Amino acid sequence: MSRQDIYDITIIGGGPSGLFAAFYAGLRGASTKVIDSLPQLGGQLMALYPDKYIYDIPGFPKVLAREFVDLQVEQAMAFSPSICLEEKVTDLRHREENGHLVLELETEPGHVHLSRTVIIAAGVGAFMPRTLDIPDLERMEGKGVHYFVKNLEVFRGQKVLVVGGGDTALDWALSLLPIAQQVTLVHRNDRFRAHEESVREVFASPSEILLFHELKELHGNDHVEAATIFHNKTGAELTIEIDAVVLGLGFLANLGPIREWGLELTKNSIEVDPTMRTNLPAVYAVGDITNYEGKLKLIATATAEAATAANYAKNYIDPQSRVFPGHSSDKL
Ligand SMILES: Cc1cc2nc3c(=O)[nH]c(=O)nc-3n(C[C@H](O)[C@H](O)[C@H](O)COP(=O)(O)OP(=O)(O)OC[C@H]3O[C@@H](n4cnc5c(N)ncnc54)[C@H](O)[C@@H]3O)c2cc1C
Repeated sequence: MSRQDIYDITIIGGGPSGLFAAFYAGLRGASTKVIDSLPQLGGQLMALYPDKYIYDIPGFPKVLAREFVDLQVEQAMAFSPSICLEEKVTDLRHREENGHLVLELETEPGHVHLSRTVIIAAGVGAFMPRTLDIPDLERMEGKGVHYFVKNLEVFRGQKVLVVGGGDTALDWALSLLPIAQQVTLVHRNDRFRAHEESVREVFASPSEILLFHELKELHGNDHVEAATIFHNKTGAELTIEIDAVVLGLGFLANLGPIREWGLELTKNSIEVDPTMRTNLPAVYAVGDITNYEGKLKLIATATAEAATAANYAKNYIDPQSRVFPGHSSDKL
């Protein structure tokens, strides 16, 4: 299907609830699309704690967040949903077409997606990478400024500056080492919010580590050529030649536009009924973003809500179909 086709179910958010909703929607034969602002699936698990163990998911006595996401993605992809990453849904509108309700989802950077129903699985809001308030950073995006390491090959033979002291920054520094000509890690203090093993590995590696340093300025016209960094205790400045800078500063979540769509909200949460329906026609919500009596913000409950929402959305699109999906053990 193309972007202009009307999907049965469009899911805003590719975290655990969105991924399970995608699986269930596929199981019910619905054409499904998942949209997420991040370049990766997994929601909070990948953005905030990929290397932490989770102990309270049924069937997993202990599982790394990133491994759980891999399995969820595999399960969701069984029915080939369309996946649109790096798109933030900014507007949700209803219109009628040939007597049928059509939902229009507008995204940054300017696409419009059409759907019969929508499941909002937006967690704590759209995750965007934390950035720095320094000159020319925005101008250099795509010209050597990176917020993710998606493809290591891009950095082959390059001099790369990695900024940050968390797991993400250290993981990137370590994975870039065999590919890049030189890796320099800049961190604003000497405390790392990362696994001890990763910290030990980085210090034992040939990468250059500059503690108590911060990025001040980037240089270059069409591409990053150098960076000025400063020691935040002495003020001493240093300009180093680089080809790329990777900012591993974590993420900020923002409910942002969702507040403007006419949904019934309590603080930052969307009110839903027991079928996960919101106050807007054909719009359901699941996971951390929802509120109802007895709500618990857990992966186990988020995924159960996703199954409920997908089945009710299917029944909304096709009232002849049963809400109860039957047992998957009888189907696959
Ligand atoms: C450090 C930490 C540890 C945790 N440990 C556990 C644990 O051990 N067990 C447990 O059960 N739970 C745990 N949780 C909670 C668990 O991660 C959440 O309950 C779960 O992630 C909720 O899933 P979700 O799909 O509802 O939302 P999220 O995981 O938040 O995913 C929402 C996704 O929607 C996207 N999105 C939002 N708005 C938009 C938009 N407008 N356009 C496009 N995309 C959008 C976001 O970018 C994000 O990727 C933990 C949370 C944290 C922070």
